[in-house]
Amino acid sequence: MITDYKRYFENIPTCPHCKTELSCCESPAIHVGDGLGWGSDVLYICLNDECSVFINGWKQIEIQYGHSSSYRYMQLPGSSESNVMMVGSEDAFKGSIIDLEVVEAQNIRYQKEKKALEDLESSTKEKDLGPAMQLILDEAAGVKGRKKAISMLLEINDLGCIDPIRNHKFRDTSIETECNMISLQLLKANFKKECPFCLELVKSKARVCIHCKKEL
Ligand SMILES: [Zn+2]
Ligand SMILES: [Zn+2]
Repeated sequence: MITDYKRYFENIPTCPHCKTELSCCESPAIHVGDGLGWGSDVLYICLNDECSVFINGWKQIEIQYGHSSSYRYMQLPGSSESNVMMVGSEDAFKGSIIDLEVVEAQNIRYQKEKKALEDLESSTKEKDLGPAMQLILDEAAGVKGRKKAISMLLEINDLGCIDPIRNHKFRDTSIETECNMISLQLLKANFKKECPFCLELVKSKARVCIHCKKEL
C-alpha cells in the first residue's frame, strides 16, 4: 500500500540530451498508448523546457501526426532504456513531481495509524486513550478504524477525550456526530454535563457552575 519512494531518489539519471537531472514523477495509472500500466509507480522525466527533445518535438509531431503535442525524454527506474512520452502541453507532468518530504510525512502518518489500530485492541483493558484518539483525530485515517475507535471510548471511560474532540475540526460529519453522541453518553455515565456557558464539565445535578458561577 505504501511505496518506498526514497530508493527512487538515490540515483536519479540525467537527460542524455540536455544533461539536466530528470524529475521523479508519479506515473499515470494508464499508459496513454496501449491502455497498460507502466509497471512502475515512478517515471523519470526530463521537464526542462529548453531540452532539444521537447523543443523539436512540437515540429516532429506536427509533421508526423498533424496535432499540437511534443515529447519529453523519459526513463523507467532500474532501466537505462531511453523512452519518450507524448505531452500535450508544457505543464504536463509538472504537477506529478514527487516531493520526497511530503511522501515521507505521509508514510510516518500511515505507520502511526497502523500502530494505533494494532494497539486499539488492548486499549480498553489498559484504559489507554492514546490509540483511539490518534485514530479519531487523524483526518487521513480510514473511516472504519476511526469509527471503531469512537465505539471504544465508552469502555475506556476517560473524560480526557471530551476536550480534544470538541476542539477538533472534523471533515466527516458522520464521524463528528458519532463523537458527539459518545461524548454525551460518556458524560452521562460519569454523572457529568457541560456547562452551556463556559463549556467546563460540572456534576450533572449541579444547579450552579463551579467554574463560571452561572445558574444552570
Ligand atoms: Zn532533457
Ligand atoms: Zn460554567
